[in-house]
Amino acid sequence: MVPFMEREVSAKIRLYVEHPLGEAQTLPLSREQAHYLFGVMRLGAGAQVLVFDGQNGEWLAEVTQAGKRGGELCVLHQTKAQQMPPDLWLLFSPIKKARTDFIVEKATELGAARILPVQTAFTNAGRIQRDRLQAHAVEAAEQCGGTFVPEVAELQKLGSVLDHWDSARRIMFCDEGAAAAARVLPDLPGPWAVLIGPEGGFSPQERDRLQSLAHAHVVSLGPRILRADTAAVAALTLWQQAMGDWG
Ligand code: SAM
Repeated sequence: MVPFMEREVSAKIRLYVEHPLGEAQTLPLSREQAHYLFGVMRLGAGAQVLVFDGQNGEWLAEVTQAGKRGGELCVLHQTKAQQMPPDLWLLFSPIKKARTDFIVEKATELGAARILPVQTAFTNAGRIQRDRLQAHAVEAAEQCGGTFVPEVAELQKLGSVLDHWDSARRIMFCDEGAAAAARVLPDLPGPWAVLIGPEGGFSPQERDRLQSLAHAHVVSLGPRILRADTAAVAALTLWQQAMGDWG
């Protein structure tokens, strides 16, 4: 195989596509993508955009057909190799809509590999709009230059997630009740998940269960109680700094 070389490109618009990418591949555009490229961004035939499919890196593509309801791109050459995030999941309890959107967006930017909304004893939201949250993850990946889009899972009960948990995956249990200085993140390799509770915190039963798990590590995010969205960003940042792909 010819070694891949990253190239300078001037195209700025990045689009996630669900077709496997490769040289000379033709990509049909959905109505929404056509509206965005030709209606909102005012591109026309011959314009260049960057595309990624979450598996095969980023590619430069040219608009070959531009219509109101659809269009077509032709893939030219690869511009970036695929970069997978570390094996880090985010488990969080959904909160208000805009703040939940924020958590999904920031988790994608910060390099979470999978996002699992979980229902805890004190979770207010009884359901989520998974497709909407997934679309936020796609938009965040398009905007941040990433080549990977984390899957947003359906809402599941925390208890049932823990019942089926693979103990090889450690849990960074962010507990506002943990003594600030005593509970630090251990630097241990392997798969991890960050767990953030709802506005009401964890119930005593949930706390007891999590504390009893050998693969769960209680971690403090400092002496102040953070909002759940702030806590998610802080915890992912801490984990990435200690064990992630930041350098
Ligand atoms: N209602 C809770 C209370 O007043 O004690 C606060 C819950 S906090 C808004 C939401 C979640 O963020 C918590 O369940 C926890 O996972 C995380 N969190 C917030 N501040 C934290 C801290 N200082 N240390 C560890 N986790 C924290």
